[in-house]
Formats: sequence, C-alpha cells, structure tokens
Amino acid sequence: MALPQSILIVGGGVFGLSTALSLSTRHPASRITVLEASPTIPNPHGSSVDTSRIVRADYANPAYARLAAAAIERWRNTDWGQEGRYTQNGLVLVYPDGNGTAANYTRKSYENVKRAEPDKVDFLPTKADVDRIMSKHGVKTAVAGGYVNWGSGWSDAEASVRFARKKLEETEKNVTFKTGQVERILFADERKQGQRKTVGVALADNTTITADLIILATGAWTPKLVDLRGRAQATGQVLAYIRITDEEQQRLAHMPTILSFATGMFIIPPRNNLLKIARHAYGYRNPQRVPVPGTDGRETMEISVPENGLPIPLEGEEACRAALREMLPAFADRPFCHTRVCWYTDTPKGDFLITYHPDHPNLFLATGGSGHGFKFFPVLGDKIVDALEGTLEPELRELWQWPAFAEDVEATEDGSRSGLKGLILKEELAKSSRGSRL
Ligand SMILES: Cc1cc2nc3c(=O)[nH]c(=O)nc-3n(C[C@H](O)[C@H](O)[C@H](O)COP(=O)(O)OP(=O)(O)OC[C@H]3O[C@@H](n4cnc5c(N)ncnc54)[C@H](O)[C@@H]3O)c2cc1C
Repeated sequence: MALPQSILIVGGGVFGLSTALSLSTRHPASRITVLEASPTIPNPHGSSVDTSRIVRADYANPAYARLAAAAIERWRNTDWGQEGRYTQNGLVLVYPDGNGTAANYTRKSYENVKRAEPDKVDFLPTKADVDRIMSKHGVKTAVAGGYVNWGSGWSDAEASVRFARKKLEETEKNVTFKTGQVERILFADERKQGQRKTVGVALADNTTITADLIILATGAWTPKLVDLRGRAQATGQVLAYIRITDEEQQRLAHMPTILSFATGMFIIPPRNNLLKIARHAYGYRNPQRVPVPGTDGRETMEISVPENGLPIPLEGEEACRAALREMLPAFADRPFCHTRVCWYTDTPKGDFLITYHPDHPNLFLATGGSGHGFKFFPVLGDKIVDALEGTLEPELRELWQWPAFAEDVEATEDGSRSGLKGLILKEELAKSSRGSRL
C-alpha cells in the first residue's frame, strides 16, 4: 500500500528509529522527518537509553515469543549485535527460600521455555545449582533455586540507539533529523472535535511542521499529546548503579543476568565499570493536571507525566539493597553512585499500541512499550510499517490495536509485575527525605 509523501515521526527512541529504518527502505519515495525533543539521539532521558536491556524470548504469548525469537536471531547474526551491542550471557531466574508461589511460577516458566529452546535451558533445583553457575564469576547468591536460559542475553541500549541513528544517517537518503518539542497536534479544523484529519504539529518554539502522516513514537510522553486515559500511562521504574573496579568489571562482565521472580528485581552484567540493579514493577505514577489534547485548553485531565532527573525514593533504594543481598551479596553495602527513575509507557495488559488513531485517519501511534519493547529493536519497525500499510499479521494486529474501551485499571496486569500498586512518586520522595537514605 502506498503511504503519503511527507511523513513525520515524533520521537527518536526504539519505536521511532526502528520505524524510520523500515519506512525509508520500504517507501523510498516518501520524505521522512524524525523529530526529537532532546538535542541528542541517544536521548539520555529516553526509555530506550541505558547501560543495558535484557533480550529474551520466553514469552507465554506465542506471538511475542515468535517476534522475540526473530529479533534475537538478528541480535545474534547481523550487525545489530556487533561491536558489543549484544552479549549472549544467559539469564538465571531465581526464587528465594520459603516463597512457594515464586517457586511454582519459576517451574511453570521453565517448562514453557524448555519446550521452545530445549537445548538451552537447565533447571536449577537447589541453591548449589545456582551457585555452580554464578561462582565462576565469583558470585555466591542467597537464593533457593531457579533455572538458566543460555539463549538469552543483553543489549547495550545506548550503543544500539546510536547505531540505529548512524545507520539512518549513513544509508537512508530520504530521512532528515530535526530537534524540537511538539506542544500539540494541529488539526484541519481546529474548532471541531472528534473525527478530523491532522495537518502537522506545533512546537515549543512557536514554529510548526506540516506532514501528510504523523507517527507518534513519543514513549511515556504520548499521553500528553493524545488522550490515552485508560489505554496507556507513564509509570516510573527504579534503576540504581554501583561503580565497580576494573577487576570486578572483568570478573562480572560475562556472568548471566540474574532476575528474581518474587520481586521483579534484576542485575545485568556491568558495562564501563557500572553495575545496574533494576526493578520490573507496577511502578510509580506522577499525577499532574494537563490540558486534554485537541480541546484547545478548554478541558483538563489528570494523568501521570514523566519527570527527568529525580532520584529514586527510599522505598526503591531499599528494594535494590534487598535484591543485592539476595543475588549479589558481596555488593550489598556498596554505595549507589547514581539512581534514576526510568519511564515505562504502560498499557493495561502490557501490549504495545501500534495503530491508527480511530478519530484521526492520518495520525498513527507507535508506543506502549510496557517495559519490554527494547529487545524487538531490529524487527519492530517492519511490524510498525506492516501496521501502517494494513498488512500486519492478525495476531499482532489484535494485540496492538486501539482498545475499543478505556480500562479502569490502576496498573498493568501482564502477569510479570512486582512491587506495590498505587505508589505516587512525589509522595514516596517526600517520605524519603524524612527517612534516612541508605
Ligand atoms: C528501566 C527500564 C528497563 C527496561 N528493561 C527492558 C528490558 O530489559 N528489555 C526490554 O526488551 N525492554 C525493556 N524496557 C522497555 C524498553 O526500553 C522500552 O519499551 C522502549 O525503549 C521504549 O521506546 P520508545 O521509543 O517508546 O520510548 P523512548 O525511548 O522514551 O523514546 C521516545 C522519545 O520521544 C521523545 N519525545 C517525547 N515527547 C516528545 C515531544 N512532545 N516532542 C518531541 N519528542 C518527544 C522523547 O524525548 C524520547 O526520546 C525497559 C524500560 C525501562 C524504562
């Protein structure tokens, strides 16, 4: 299917750059602009940019499992994974003593993965079995058991974003990069509401950009540009880093990633002498009152809005400390040199939102990463362009379509989240300043 001449992609993260890569090769006659608010791509505050992201294929849903397997094939065998951008170090999933639910969940997940990759997965029924693997890297854990999937790895997220941008700059002649922050979407008839075409975007510097087709790949900031209440929201997740020595970097560089089913906490092998501890959780909301998009400021709504540069609350620090005591006890008392709240774009069931907007025929959404979008970087753009062309396979179309009903849910329920529900970032930070930092 032909796509329009001028296409504007807003957002230079995984969703935006992968779309630009596929669009530029499959639609060479289109003029594509990638507009990014940050002066640099990689954007250090974007969800796609970090020391590392886990790349694994063990999804219960076969459509995601197939897509992840296709992505891993590219990470392993193409230039995507070269120059240290992908390391296949394995993933050890563990559970603590005395947590029957986590032990059962681990067993079920193991059986799922074993069916998909029988030669790459081993059950680790006791602490000694886990230690047999981790002790090669000088690590002694305090867990009860788990399993290892040697088919999983991790990607250097920042380097991968830089690679995608460079690939676009070097090879794709029909792509232009621009810096600018979209304040609002412009419509053909600004007085009307409901069904209407978009004509472009208004930027914070009072300039406008027109386009025949607008693709919003704006991650956790999307709910400010389009009303996504009940369909997607920004949730803040906890990241903490420990600076380690050259000897420790060398020793831990090839250890498997270690993830606790009970707490959602994980530790990825270090990069550049930085060891990262993170949590995959329900996360923090950051409620703010903002104008309802498309109403010219006449109406307002309360949504969760990402905020950059904040430290993690004490509650999050304590969770990171507990994770270290369980999975990497030798580092449990080391100071954190840096912490960060990183923003998921969470949908009610954790499915991406890759679809035309039902009210605006030339506005397309490519977002809803829900904390698991990174691994698909090498293959996601092709699926997004399939969706733009109307040729996306039915299973993915169903998962990623505009939900007919807004869901009244407090948090994402995708079966993988831990932590407490309903945490408000500013309230937790206020409690932290009264409490003592670790
Ligand atoms: C802490 C954390 C850990 C994660 N771990 C994993 C993992 O282990 N494995 C995995 O597969 N996935 C993981 N993910 C998920 C994955 O990183 C995301 O799904 C993915 O990176 C989202 O990409 P994006 O392009 O939607 O968002 P982003 O990378 O945030 O890109 C959106 C861009 O849009 C720009 N933008 C926003 N608003 C505007 C505007 N108004 N005007 C102009 N530009 C704008 C922003 O500046 C930003 O650069 C994790 C995410 C986080 C936060």
